[in-house]
Amino acid sequence: MQTFKALVVETGDPYTAQIRQASVDELPPGDVLVRVAYSSLNYKDGLAITGAGKVIRSFPMVPGIDLAGTVLESASPDYKPGDAVILTGWGVGERHWGGLAELARVRAEWLVPLPDGLTLQQAMGIGTAGFTAMLAVMALEAHTIDKNRDVLVTGAAGGVGSVATALLARLGYRVVASTGRTSEEAYLKSLGAGEILHRSVLAAPAKPLESERFGGAVDTVGGAVLAGVLPRMAYGSSVAACGNAGGVKLETTVFPFILRGVNLLGIDSVMCPREKRLRAWQRLAHDLPKPLLEAAIQTVSLEEVPGLAQAILQGQVRGRVVVRLS
Ligand code: NDP
Repeated sequence: MQTFKALVVETGDPYTAQIRQASVDELPPGDVLVRVAYSSLNYKDGLAITGAGKVIRSFPMVPGIDLAGTVLESASPDYKPGDAVILTGWGVGERHWGGLAELARVRAEWLVPLPDGLTLQQAMGIGTAGFTAMLAVMALEAHTIDKNRDVLVTGAAGGVGSVATALLARLGYRVVASTGRTSEEAYLKSLGAGEILHRSVLAAPAKPLESERFGGAVDTVGGAVLAGVLPRMAYGSSVAACGNAGGVKLETTVFPFILRGVNLLGIDSVMCPREKRLRAWQRLAHDLPKPLLEAAIQTVSLEEVPGLAQAILQGQVRGRVVVRLS
């Protein structure tokens, strides 16, 4: 394969994202060549493809922060041709050509072997969003989650939120799913949510301390919503903050922290160390019910990606978008 199909983003006026044939010689350095079977669309990919956010660090760039496929060539002792692998993060699709192409050349240490029990397509149904949801749940578990209280997920109908809802429900928690889309109520209940809470309740101005309600929370929204979550957290509970779909500023008081011992836990998936990555993928393969994962996935072609990139930024995408490459 000397040329391959790729979505290529070019800067300039205008900023463009177009599908074209690329040459193998254009691929960046790396010790493993992967035939990409599937990629996925994350919020960050939406920013990269549309240019709405300064995600891409060098041009031309193939976006796609996730990929799953089969090793074609390897100079690393850790992988051989035919191995099924997945990759999320590490600046792929931002600084290094990413997954929205039929081929990718990457560094061996960025790869994770496909865990038993997952297909390549399911792995991309999880992707960075689902992996981040798992890291958030693991962080809450490390600080204990009060089983007797509700656990909150914000931005619940999005990618991170859908997987977090399904995981927490499966683990036995009563999940309150916060969404701005009442049309997604039935979908969220099908993932296991026990109750739907409209986003506007959390985004409205709150007192420094409201009644203690939640025994844990996964926040994918940030901004005013996170500011409304903190005063509602129960004594000693934790919020895993992993997103900014609703804003980057956080206006709050110190009272939830100093009077209720609430913990604000930061979640980063991009540079997550390898050992934790492997544990998270094992947990995902084991704890995430496959029918729920399948219910959260829509699989699309590369040609459909630019349109969906606009939609994900407008909060119009439900669950996870998997992109079929080969
Ligand atoms: P999605 O677009 O799939 O989901 C985001 C959800 O947030 C939407 O579905 C919507 O949920 C809600 N939302 C969107 N816009 C607004 C708004 N203006 N105000 C309030 N809520 C809003 O994105 P992902 O799930 O892929 O990513 C979610 C967030 O997590 C993003 O900010 C992303 O950058 C971040 N992220 C961080 C990672 C990390 O390593 N820390 C890794 C992956 C993602 P609803 O309709 O249910 O209200």
